[in-house]
Amino acid sequence: MKVFKFGGASLKDAAGVQNVASILQQFSQEQLVIVVSAMGKTTNALEEVVAAYVKQTGQAQELYEAFKEKHYAIMRDLFEPGDEVFTVINDTFVEGEWMLEEKPSDNYDYIYDQIVCMGELVSSKIVAAYLNKVNLKTTWLDARDVVATDNTYREGWVIWEKTQANAQKIVPPLFEQGNFVITQGFIGSTSENFTTTLGREGSDYSASIFSFCLNAESMSIWKDVAGVLNADPRLFENTIKLDRLSYREAIEMTYYGASVIHPKTIKPLQNKNIPLYVKSFLNPEAAGTEISSDLEEAYPPIIVVEKNQALLHISTLDYSFVAEHHMSRLFGKAADLRIFVNMMQNTAISFTICVTNVPDRIEKFIKAVSDEFKVKTEEGLELITIRHYNQETIDNLKKGKMVLFEERIRNTMHMVVKNIPPIERREVDLAGSKAS
Ligand code: ADP
Ligand code: ASP
Ligand code: MG
Repeated sequence: MKVFKFGGASLKDAAGVQNVASILQQFSQEQLVIVVSAMGKTTNALEEVVAAYVKQTGQAQELYEAFKEKHYAIMRDLFEPGDEVFTVINDTFVEGEWMLEEKPSDNYDYIYDQIVCMGELVSSKIVAAYLNKVNLKTTWLDARDVVATDNTYREGWVIWEKTQANAQKIVPPLFEQGNFVITQGFIGSTSENFTTTLGREGSDYSASIFSFCLNAESMSIWKDVAGVLNADPRLFENTIKLDRLSYREAIEMTYYGASVIHPKTIKPLQNKNIPLYVKSFLNPEAAGTEISSDLEEAYPPIIVVEKNQALLHISTLDYSFVAEHHMSRLFGKAADLRIFVNMMQNTAISFTICVTNVPDRIEKFIKAVSDEFKVKTEEGLELITIRHYNQETIDNLKKGKMVLFEERIRNTMHMVVKNIPPIERREVDLAGSKAS
């Protein structure tokens, strides 16, 4: 049994769904668990529905209608009028409508998960119906019956033992009905049967959860790029495709923000030595990238840019040293607020951390420690990580940037930078008075 994952980009319209079906035709003799994301940018659209609903702006229904219509349009391109899929999807939409009619509870994250999961639910139902239509016998599985999480809404923590037991009990019998089982990425369920999500872009992680729990032979994620490249092609030209990567290398890249694979994806695969293939859905015959057990490869410089970073310079109000007991309090607070610390450095009287800037959280952090600490923040920064760096790459990356913080550990270099603003000509007369 193998696990395949198709993300939003591969399912953005009817032609995308047809292309996915044609890829799957090549694998009709194999047992596959197929994990799919919401279509295109649906999750962003549903986030807007949630925001409008919680704020009761009166626009939630309208935005929800637009979400529905987008899917109906795709279905009209894929199915004859009167196909039973229209009833199936309509029933799913109604569940969301009921929710929007009620008064919102005050738990934003809980509401978010109950509404945003609609994207994956309808996408998987539409794709299942289409695969069956083209004679690829496919059984639909509700991922929430398998993926058990705690009740940390929007970032559910997987309860592995329960998830594995569910997967091994529920999934194998489904293959008696046909070779393909399709399910949703991104979603799970609490012990009280409320929906949770696993964090944005979490469908890669879902595929990895299924792979681990079912001891898959391999996992393949189908992307709009040739494979894993040595840098994000949206930011750099002349990127190089990496044919093979070790788990370790892939973990390092994704941990520091290479968004091609969700950071939690690799570890479960590494634990069971399951190879991961990153393939192009635009060129399915091409080899892509193989990520597998540690290889002695010579890598080119690999660059990862994580935007939206902030530096927090922390010092004690009484000017004492920032010592271990302080750090334990600071890190405890950061963990409570789910602030992700990417780098740190301490001197005798100050402690600096580089964190991903999630709205509100830094403010909450500063407030929570303000009885003991003074915190100075610098926002709008980038964290650049270079694996296997050389001087030429470093020099190129520093152009136009001011380096605020830099660190080298073995073959990894990190730098926190800000763009140097263009120097404006100052209309100031050096004799003292302003020029006209
Ligand atoms: P999905 O459709 O599965 O959600 P994503 O859009 O999340 O796929 O991931 C694919 C995108 O990741 C690519 O289009 C590319 O812009 C981006 N990306 C960032 N870093 C890299 C990298 N190192 N190699 C390849 N793609 C990268
Ligand atoms: N649909 C979810 C998102 O956009 C999960 C995913 O695509 O991986 O974040
Ligand atoms: Mg994605």
